[in-house]
Amino acid sequence: MPRTDTLLADPRLAAAEATLGRARLKAVVGNAQDRARRGEIPPEDVLAVALAGLSDTAAGLRPVLNATGVVLHTNLGRAPLSGAAVSAVVAAAGHTDVELDLRTGRRARRGRTAMAALAEAVPAAGAVHVVNNGAAALALAATAITSVGAGGGAGTGREIVVSRGELVEIGDGFRLPDLLASTGARLREVGTTNRSTLADYAAAIGPETAFVLKVHPSNFVVRGFTAAVPVEELATLGVPVVVDIGSGLLAPDPLLPDEPDAASALRAGATLVTASGDKLLGGPQAGLLLGDADLVERLRRHPLARALRVDKLTLAALEATLSGPETPTWRALRATPGALRIRTERLRDHLAAAGLKTEVLAADAVVGGGGAPEVTLESWALALGEEYAEPLRLGDPPILGRLERGRLLLDLRCVPTEHDEAVRAAILRVPRSWRED
Ligand SMILES: *Cc1c(COP(=O)(O)O)cnc(C)c1O
Repeated sequence: MPRTDTLLADPRLAAAEATLGRARLKAVVGNAQDRARRGEIPPEDVLAVALAGLSDTAAGLRPVLNATGVVLHTNLGRAPLSGAAVSAVVAAAGHTDVELDLRTGRRARRGRTAMAALAEAVPAAGAVHVVNNGAAALALAATAITSVGAGGGAGTGREIVVSRGELVEIGDGFRLPDLLASTGARLREVGTTNRSTLADYAAAIGPETAFVLKVHPSNFVVRGFTAAVPVEELATLGVPVVVDIGSGLLAPDPLLPDEPDAASALRAGATLVTASGDKLLGGPQAGLLLGDADLVERLRRHPLARALRVDKLTLAALEATLSGPETPTWRALRATPGALRIRTERLRDHLAAAGLKTEVLAADAVVGGGGAPEVTLESWALALGEEYAEPLRLGDPPILGRLERGRLLLDLRCVPTEHDEAVRAAILRVPRSWRED
């Protein structure tokens, strides 16, 4: 039986101590020794079994390569952070001046520089606030605006007036009407699935109305005999208008003409806009609230706001996303088919040189993340046999493609170019026995 200190002297095990800690490393080694004592493995395999145990024990989320062609993949954490945002997160990870003004030595507004960056990005907003995610932003708005006695004037009732065509499910069973109802607000549905008019809204508004809600149906479109009321017209109804734009575009993007943006909604008369931080904005998970200064201040001071508060890491990443260079999401959306084809063909040629024949196909990528359902991004993919899906997913780094037409397609659009070599190596590491199954 190899001794514990002999095993721990192995450089690979020794290196793992930095991430696992001494106690967990010893447990991994102890497990392997126990298995040998029980006769399950020969003693000479103890080191190999301990090394294999490292990856099972390795804590945390694993980085993966997104070759799915889905730019904002919810199961892969939506938007990847920019290098600037990653650096900002690392810098903020220790003690940081998140709530302190270093000049005066006094307490300062939490995350004020991130809020300033958001306000600067959307000058049409009177004030801004940030919470945990898009759902939290909507929950806070619904709770605070519909709470009885929450301020004078219009918008002090309990009802949220919303079109039947906008009572949507975002994904994984998350239904907006359920979220709104959970705040204690009453939903006053107007119109039909395909058509809602200004008269429908006007007829539903009364003393019980807290606000009119307009929701961007992010992940589907209704076509044919349809009508929806634009924000400009909802703003004439005399009650607050809250617009959930979903994807977090702050200004119009010509690439995504059907995606609403915060600046346009506010200019059109929205009282408040809510959005996610990790969709098209390309930042960390966060919920953005932008709009009327008094209302945003009320939301900020509501007791629930504390429960939905974002941490210093999110604030750091959000600020760097807003004021930093173009995000990986922005770049992935704009990768040209020509450049993608060249990368994919180069990959194919390198594989061919190593004796593996693959094909390059034209294939459409999508925005994903519950956004721009009608947009396809002209793209290219390397086609492999379906049997590659599992070994690549279980490899290091794990590579996720998509199964289509009986093949595994790898789209490099969302794979940073510097990882092309890692993709090639991972494909060639798939054992021949597995490939020829
Ligand atoms: C994505 C989305 C949400 C939920 O946002 P999260 O950040 O996922 O909580 C809410 N409304 C709309 C319209 C969305 O597209």
